[in-house]
Amino acid sequence: MIFETMAVGVYYANCYIIGSDSTKEAAIIDPGAEFERIDKKVNELGLTPKIVILTHTHEDHIGAVKDFVDKYNVKVYVHKDDAAALVDGTAVNPDVELKDGDVINLGDLNFEIIHTPGHTKGGICIKVGNIMMTGDTLFNKSIGRTDFPGGSYDEIIKSIKEKIFKYDDDIIIYPGHNSPSTIKSEKIGNPFVN
Ligand SMILES: [Zn+2]
Ligand SMILES: [Zn+2]
Repeated sequence: MIFETMAVGVYYANCYIIGSDSTKEAAIIDPGAEFERIDKKVNELGLTPKIVILTHTHEDHIGAVKDFVDKYNVKVYVHKDDAAALVDGTAVNPDVELKDGDVINLGDLNFEIIHTPGHTKGGICIKVGNIMMTGDTLFNKSIGRTDFPGGSYDEIIKSIKEKIFKYDDDIIIYPGHNSPSTIKSEKIGNPFVN
């Protein structure tokens, strides 16, 4: 697996580039801004963007979606409960509306979709191998805001405890902002879920 993190835009939203070693196809997770910079990195890695998967559809995570659609005709995947906000924010219609338990195949990679509402109604985490992109649901020793439309504090806590923490302790989490962590480290040290 080829894996690269880029913090983009004024909110430093983490955009993740995940490529298949066998086919050199890439998934772009949350292309939030700075299309040219992400595109340059993808090219340096020798990858071709095929799909975009969105952890949720807040503005700081979707700003460069349309550029990827226009240049590469990528397929856009978003949870069904966040799909309307994508259309509002980018005028891009999702190709696939996701639900909990879906799996997206790309080359030798499988992306597992875990529905984790609370930050937004259609927020998801994306697990591939032993890493998990947690969007703005779970951060390194913090959690996402729940005061936006569709947010719920009770739901985000439930999502983290029941949907994320059931996975192995050694899985590395890559959040929507700031630095990575592990499930074990969050179980022990995250003040919001202890
Ligand atoms: Zn957000
Ligand atoms: Zn964000």
